[in-house]
Amino acid sequence: MPPTNAEIRALDLEHVWHPCTQMKDHEREMPLVPLRSGRGAWLEDYDGHRYLDAISSWWVNLWGHAHPGINAAMQAQLDDLPHAMFAGFTHGPAARLAAQLVALAPPGLTRCYFADSGSAAIEVAVKMSFHSWRNAGRPRKTRFVTLSNSYHGETLGALAVGNVELYKAIYRPLLMDVITVPSPDPWAAGPGVDAATAAARAAEALEATLAAQAEEISALILEPLVQCAGSMRMYHPDYLRRARAACDRHGVHLIADEIAVGFGRTGPLFACEQADVTPDFLCLSKGLTAGYLPMSVVLTREPIYQAFYDDHHKLNAFLHSHSYAGNPLGCAAALASLALFAEPGATAARMRLATDLGAAVHAAFDQHPQVAEVRRCGTIVAVEFVRDRATREHYPWRERRHLHIHRHALGRGVLLRPLGNVIYFMPPYCTNSAELELMAAVAREGLDLAVAALPGGA
Ligand SMILES: *Cc1c(COP(=O)(O)O)cnc(C)c1O
Repeated sequence: MPPTNAEIRALDLEHVWHPCTQMKDHEREMPLVPLRSGRGAWLEDYDGHRYLDAISSWWVNLWGHAHPGINAAMQAQLDDLPHAMFAGFTHGPAARLAAQLVALAPPGLTRCYFADSGSAAIEVAVKMSFHSWRNAGRPRKTRFVTLSNSYHGETLGALAVGNVELYKAIYRPLLMDVITVPSPDPWAAGPGVDAATAAARAAEALEATLAAQAEEISALILEPLVQCAGSMRMYHPDYLRRARAACDRHGVHLIADEIAVGFGRTGPLFACEQADVTPDFLCLSKGLTAGYLPMSVVLTREPIYQAFYDDHHKLNAFLHSHSYAGNPLGCAAALASLALFAEPGATAARMRLATDLGAAVHAAFDQHPQVAEVRRCGTIVAVEFVRDRATREHYPWRERRHLHIHRHALGRGVLLRPLGNVIYFMPPYCTNSAELELMAAVAREGLDLAVAALPGGA
């Protein structure tokens, strides 16, 4: 007898502690969903219910689950070399992947440093930036500038350079002090401020900060175009251009965290392309292995690499390491994913997905009395719902209205996981237009239920 949902759920709840979860919620508010398999845009549980993965399993799955081409590439690699240490050794998949990433990334990024998660990539970029200044005789450049509402991961360094209070506040005594500048997010700027104006204002604030403090600043870190964990807030590419120019003017590195937005999510392969900007560090993870294995990479420029390249006795090397750095299976998955980007029609198909998704979500939500904004950037579409459309006042967070949407969607066979007051969609690229219609319609039903619910009725 194959196991049932109930059996797996009971076994899990005895010993597992899940990420980003108040485990008590699994008793009632958010029943744990045990998954048996995945195919394309769909996941299936042990009782045979199917779920359309509207958020690419936390934004990692690019091409659908159990993609035949990626599976085959990984199976071939599995037979040859599943893993080997990466200090002192190398292999074809890592060497080829680095070469392909450099060829595809914004011009000037020439070196790839492999790590094993998004947060680890941020740690690498932060340490490398600081250390390269030090090696260059600038030891006073120790501080980092971050945007309000930014998110860069959960390890202590990554948490420190992020700005989502929900994840950060409690750990503040453990975190390095950073300089926070306003986000270019037009929503945060208030009603009536357009994206270009919000970008210009935020750029001025950044320029003033760099002008005053560049002597002690190592790098500016930002998420290009979309602050994903920060409620899918989207901003104008002009900000990136001005941030790059200000960093150049004041001798400050630019770290682009494309862990969520990289690999086509905003349209082009990398979001920085939309502003013709090359960062000093480009952090990639999530979609890098198309949702198959944890892996990340930091791309950097030749001058930074050269700041560490020296005789052994100078002790200038970058001694950071991860046991699974350069994992061959992850590299094989990443290479297979890049091959899918190179297929004829792949870009056109992604653009069509973006258009169809936007149309479906706009049609479902534009007229909704509790929706203040539908915003979109490539294949990311977000719906901000509010108690009062005129004042844009949100529902009190204690009411947890988004849980109604999550639960209703699961019951209707769609995986949605709103971020507080924001319902969003970031589907795998294989999702068809009927599936896009379904996710938008189910989300709309969920919002109607959430709005009608009694406060505290979650
Ligand atoms: C998810 C995410 C991270 C952290 O990646 P993990 O693999 O979860 O550590 C960092 N930055 C951004 C923008 C992310 O979305």
